[in-house]
Amino acid sequence: MSTGTIDLHTHTTHSDGSASPSELIELAGAQRARAVAITDHDTTAAVDAARAAADRVGLEFVSGIEISAEYSPGTMHILGYCIDHESNSLATRLDELKLARETRNPQIASLLQSLGLDVSYDEVAMLAGNKVIGRPHFARVMIEKGYVASIQEAFDRFLKKGAAAYVEKARLSPAESIALIHQAGGVAVLAHPYQLRLGSYQEADELIGELAGIGLDGVEAVYSRHSLEERAGYSEIAARYNLLVTGGSDYHGSYKPDISIVTGLGDLEVPYELLEAVKARAARYQPAQRNDVLNVS
Ligand code: AMP
Ligand code: ZN
Ligand code: FE
Ligand code: FE
Repeated sequence: MSTGTIDLHTHTTHSDGSASPSELIELAGAQRARAVAITDHDTTAAVDAARAAADRVGLEFVSGIEISAEYSPGTMHILGYCIDHESNSLATRLDELKLARETRNPQIASLLQSLGLDVSYDEVAMLAGNKVIGRPHFARVMIEKGYVASIQEAFDRFLKKGAAAYVEKARLSPAESIALIHQAGGVAVLAHPYQLRLGSYQEADELIGELAGIGLDGVEAVYSRHSLEERAGYSEIAARYNLLVTGGSDYHGSYKPDISIVTGLGDLEVPYELLEAVKARAARYQPAQRNDVLNVS
């Protein structure tokens, strides 16, 4: 049976979400999701707790990740699904990215201080309580101290690319992001293509064609903040390159208060069939089974 609704894009307290892995799985269960993937930024730390919670709640869990890739002037995020979260090559690179954040975060704090905002990195880390600290956590402290009224205002005035307290983040190239996901046995999907800030579907088509040439497996066409027209447009491009279509809410709890798990802005409906196609494609990247190796004559 392949009916049911799923959510393949969510964040927990291990990155910049407000729900713990088990809380998130329970919320998804309450929305009657059949399957859910957690795609924390640059970390797979939620996987074990989430899988245990999913077993309890009775829904299917998909191990995932969201990697920030080098790209300008917009944002390129690559999602990985069905990954082995204990893959050595992936873990090594993620540790390096974590170290780079530990250099970047105090720089963001200094810039905010030089702009007259009393925000220290220590208090951000403490108040956030999250594992991978980033700009949304700075935004949260800026609200608590009354400097801004919302996370969006903190980004627009201080934290977004090009704003006064923006500091570049260490990123992997798109090719390396895709290769690492494949090495961990997973499929690589271009997240929320609208954030690439391309001028037309023609440009999106060219870029996605190039990414397909270096191993991209899918496109997240069904996304909370995509209009119906964008969902159709990006699905069409994916089909042209024989890529999967995936979908998700990008739930962050109180860090993105307008987005609900599973239903997004209210109209999201991601069918379970999309996950079946993801799992079928993941079989390409699984290490050969021992039996297969022994059977080769
Ligand atoms: P970081 O990893 O520190 O660069 O922060 C990335 C997070 O910030 C992601 O969860 C984004 O959703 C959020 N973010 C990035 N740019 C913006 C923006 N312009 N407005 C609101 N949130 C943003
Ligand atoms: Zn995020
Ligand atoms: Fe993203
Ligand atoms: Fe995300």
